[in-house]
Amino acid sequence: MALKAVYLYAAVVALLLCSSANFIQSPSDVFGPVALLEPTPSAARDFGAVVSEAPVAVMRPGSAADIARLLGALSSAGPGSRARAAAAAVAARGAGHSLHGQAQARGGIVVETRALPRAVQVADGGAYADVGAGALWVEVLEECLRAGLAPRSWTDYLYLTVGGTLSNGGISGQAFKHGPQISNVLELEVVTGTGEVVTCSPTRSPELFFAVLGGLGQFGIITRARIPLQVAPPKVRWVRAFYDSFESFTRDQELLVSMPELVDYVEGFMVLNEHSLRSSSVAFPVEVNFAPDFGSDGGGGGKKVYYCLEFAVHDFRQQDSAADHVVELVSGKLSFLRPHAYSVEVAYFDFLNRVRMEEESLRSRGLWDVPHPWLNVFVPRHGAARFKNLLMDTVITRGDFEGAVLVYPLLTDRWDGNTSAVVPAAPDGVAYVFSVLRSTDPARCGGACVDGILEEHRRVADEACRRLGAKQYLARQRSRAHWRDHFGAGWDRFVARKARFDPMHVLGPGQGIFPRTD
Ligand code: FAD
Repeated sequence: MALKAVYLYAAVVALLLCSSANFIQSPSDVFGPVALLEPTPSAARDFGAVVSEAPVAVMRPGSAADIARLLGALSSAGPGSRARAAAAAVAARGAGHSLHGQAQARGGIVVETRALPRAVQVADGGAYADVGAGALWVEVLEECLRAGLAPRSWTDYLYLTVGGTLSNGGISGQAFKHGPQISNVLELEVVTGTGEVVTCSPTRSPELFFAVLGGLGQFGIITRARIPLQVAPPKVRWVRAFYDSFESFTRDQELLVSMPELVDYVEGFMVLNEHSLRSSSVAFPVEVNFAPDFGSDGGGGGKKVYYCLEFAVHDFRQQDSAADHVVELVSGKLSFLRPHAYSVEVAYFDFLNRVRMEEESLRSRGLWDVPHPWLNVFVPRHGAARFKNLLMDTVITRGDFEGAVLVYPLLTDRWDGNTSAVVPAAPDGVAYVFSVLRSTDPARCGGACVDGILEEHRRVADEACRRLGAKQYLARQRSRAHWRDHFGAGWDRFVARKARFDPMHVLGPGQGIFPRTD
């Protein structure tokens, strides 16, 4: 193994040497004691499982300094520098839950951030935690809960790294109240594309701080984050209520997000058929006696569709059943299909970790390590109903549609416009998240079928962006022109940030935003 590592290290250095005769005098000057390792299959894989690009090497850094040596060497100025950077682009890889190869580096180097120290240190009397960027959010939660504390803003699924979600946005049902995860960061340590280790915050090197938040791994590799904390409730009261009208479902969601003093979490999903009703119940530990009539083939197109609104209230148990009173009060204002509201009390950890049960269920059916053609779109409120109809006329017409379609509102003023993340212009400040989450069974849907789904998603996303002013989330755009459209007015700033923090275009090749050679 050690011999292999040395061999590979030499091979990569040789590759770099070929790119510029003047580049490296001695290999140890360049990367110090950190060896580059032979790539593992996982470095060329991600959750989407539709893109697979092999790197020439992986690095398991023990510190920010290790990454700094690598990036500093690859981007140092001088003859042949651009060719050198092109020969070895670098992608940070967290948990590898990207969908389209965004954490991959064809012919380059994958930096596995899980190898960084993952300590979670609660400090300043519990005001915040300093966390290694390679830590999973579930690890952050477990550690903070020991002190009775927790971050405020989450993703639905917790087995994602801090650096990975902060490079995108990080959203869940708390985002209406606290903003996305990128609005909940006090400070970052970042290694820029030029190999500089910088501690940044809204007041210290703010341009870098805001650039990397939602920055798709283009400007630096985040190595540490300071995350604000709040007191964690021991329990959560979790409610699901059913609707047969999109209009009343979304009206009630908007009512709930207007009550942040009472409600702590708001999401929802489409109930398309028996399958979606059953599979969405995996983590909800109460019997749901809702047996709607979907029509003859149980499908979406032209058939009956239902909606399930979800909300949750933190239960601090300070007063007997205070959370119950809130749930009763709030439920009384909603217009769900009576009597179909179901409520259950669960431990806070179990609530936040609910998607783990869905993962286990998919794994048990062989549907986890399979292609996942997902579609995530933020649609301005005025276009939400039209987008839902568009989905039903296209993606989810078939009665055999298997998967989840999440629908819930975000308040766009909770997103800091200084970050690199893109949200649609929403005149009334509300945009809806639509997430079409599906796992394809290779026995029933092979390569051509997956490609067909992806193509259909592209068409739907294009139409939503063009006609409704929507923006895609977590997507790899097809070309630089598509990226320019995606960023819109923010494109020039994004390009300027790249020129400043990663002028050699070393970082983030898997996003396909900046060509590796000009
Ligand atoms: P990776 O896939 O490893 O990397 C993603 C991108 O970030 C790449 O471009 C990579 O180069 C870059 N990157 C990674 N680490 C760093 C770093 N330290 N510094 C700089 N750049 C870095 N998202 C939500 O917002 N809400 C959800 O509820 C949600 N649920 C999900 C559920 C599942 C099952 C899956 C598969 C994904 C989900 N996502 C969700 C999407 C998820 O947030 C992103 O895919 C995220 O990037 C995954 O984190 P990761 O650690 O796997 O990142």
